[in-house]
Amino acid sequence: MTRILYATGGPAREIALTEDGALIEYLREDASAASTEAIYLGIVRRVMPGMSAAFVDIGEEKMGFLPLNENSATFAGQPLRTGMRVAVQVRRAAQGTKGAFLTRDITLCGETVLLMPMNRHIGVSARVTDAEDIAALKTLGAEIAGERFGLVMRRAAAEADPQAVRGEADSLLAHWEAVAKALPTAHAPSMVDRPRTLLDALLEDELPRGIDALVTEDAALAESLAGRLPCRVEEAGVMERHGLIRQRNEALQRRVQLPGGGNLVIDPCEALTVIDVNTARHSGESLRRTVLETNLEAVREAARQMRLRNLGGIVLMDLIDMAEEDDRAAVLDALREALARDRVKTVVHGYTSLGLVEMTRKRVRRTLAQDWAEPCPRCGGSGIIPRQA
Ligand SMILES: [Zn+2]
Repeated sequence: MTRILYATGGPAREIALTEDGALIEYLREDASAASTEAIYLGIVRRVMPGMSAAFVDIGEEKMGFLPLNENSATFAGQPLRTGMRVAVQVRRAAQGTKGAFLTRDITLCGETVLLMPMNRHIGVSARVTDAEDIAALKTLGAEIAGERFGLVMRRAAAEADPQAVRGEADSLLAHWEAVAKALPTAHAPSMVDRPRTLLDALLEDELPRGIDALVTEDAALAESLAGRLPCRVEEAGVMERHGLIRQRNEALQRRVQLPGGGNLVIDPCEALTVIDVNTARHSGESLRRTVLETNLEAVREAARQMRLRNLGGIVLMDLIDMAEEDDRAAVLDALREALARDRVKTVVHGYTSLGLVEMTRKRVRRTLAQDWAEPCPRCGGSGIIPRQA
């Protein structure tokens, strides 16, 4: 049974995905911070020619900062005047004492293209390096845009069906046209286009695989989702009541116990993450069998932990040594199968010459530890305190 639990009571929105009560993902999204991609109808409060910028009230705690002349080859906005209403997008979210960094050259992000309704530039992502691909994408982009908007062709466009690329551009354009149509009568300052939330993204990935229920404290949210999946409203404290805070805190620990008596030790380092497997006590059965069973348990749990902790980049796993080639292959198969349920892609590269399992997991968002822990103030995160004598 797969469930989503959604809590809104604290300073951040909290989203948990569970399978039969076990925590699979625990996400955090700050509710107040103006995040990038949000589009606002703002009011210019002060133009500062000396700084080539203007302060724009977007209705958030701090004024946004908008350059007067944006450095885009094909975008030229109207001169800014105090009191003027202006549609702006957050390019860099507000941080500390600094307000959001804004742009008038709005970009709508898709998987295969970036659509820029304010300019007519056709570009190709720098991540596409093949000269033929670049030329073909430029031609396709120019055809799709027809000088109605600007487009940047992303790397995924090189592998996608041209019809799918066109379809995505059309839907982004339709989305923008709906926003633009609402602008003249919108209240200023206000947010006129909300960026996709983590819940939107989770539902998009997980609904097709089947979600049995969404449990939330937010009655309005439950009502808005009622047509898409079964929703249940509970009183505040959903995460605590379902034991998910405890499970989340356990996932911040280095050591994870395996059912058969072995354990994993997970150490995220600067350049890579190391997962060490420690064996269970040898219990009468053959050594080969004990080792194989511990390693199978270990790779299944490691896949769950990589997803839960949202570890990205290189991961090296030190399994217990296996002499038989069949066993080594079976363990790798079990690892790949367990990883297939993760919505973030992990590539298993196989065994290194020293017998470590080498993987790379795509980096997305922040890790569980970045969201839910801070370095120990006593030792500064080093884990040791120098002796005085
Ligand atoms: Zn410490």
